[in-house]
Amino acid sequence: RSGDILLQVEDLHVAYGTAHVVHGVSFTVRAGEFVVMLGRNGAGKTTILQAISGLIPKRAGRVGFAGDDISRASARDIVQAGLIQVLEGHRVFTSLSVEDNLLIGAAARSRTDLKATIEEIYEEFPEIADKRHQQASRLSGGQQQILAVAQGIVADPRLLMLDEPSGGLAPIVVDRILSFAAKLARSGVAVLLVEQLVEKALKHADYGYLLETGAIGGEGWAADLGDSDLIRRIYLGGH
Ligand code: ATP
Repeated sequence: RSGDILLQVEDLHVAYGTAHVVHGVSFTVRAGEFVVMLGRNGAGKTTILQAISGLIPKRAGRVGFAGDDISRASARDIVQAGLIQVLEGHRVFTSLSVEDNLLIGAAARSRTDLKATIEEIYEEFPEIADKRHQQASRLSGGQQQILAVAQGIVADPRLLMLDEPSGGLAPIVVDRILSFAAKLARSGVAVLLVEQLVEKALKHADYGYLLETGAIGGEGWAADLGDSDLIRRIYLGGH
């Protein structure tokens, strides 16, 4: 793998009370890379993202971002540093218009080319462009998911973390979102995706990690992982 290391997670442990759900996870995301973390339902993917973002406490471990130690940084400071997480389940402000949602997303970080970025998003996703002045509550679930991802993009991330953007979406829309994420990575923004849709994720990502009940079970180029024994082990239930 080439490119500078942007995110470095080392020996991360996370617990909910006495339930130790992430035990010693280490992985990296490099600048301009599209990395996917695959794992079954309940493997701990969401927990890892939330811990990196500072939304839930870490039991142990270190998180480095762009050369700084952000292990103890607040969620707010982590956003300011350019590490942006799009939450699972298309969470947007439903009482605000589509466009206001985008303006609020951008307020997380100051940027100069906001208008152009919003136009680019509208071009890519005309279904939300057509409703830009309507309340977000009037969007379909899929359109809200697109809006949630767009909110992450307008925040001008250095690393965009996407938590199962496929949730409840038609396969064709999932492909559009993931190919947009790949395009973003090619433009220099790193992307970390967590997904259960193995085939789709591997089609668009560069590199993948496999999470098995709170620990990394394997890693490799996305192009090689699809046919690997590890994937079969995780998804066909054999151990
Ligand atoms: P999913 O795809 O369903 O989101 P996941 O891989 O993201 O799965 P997590 O949501 O991180 O998995 O959950 C990992 C484990 O932690 C699961 O066993 C889950 O039941 C447990 N867990 C998650 N959130 C909490 C919580 N707030 N309190 C207690 N246990 C939790």
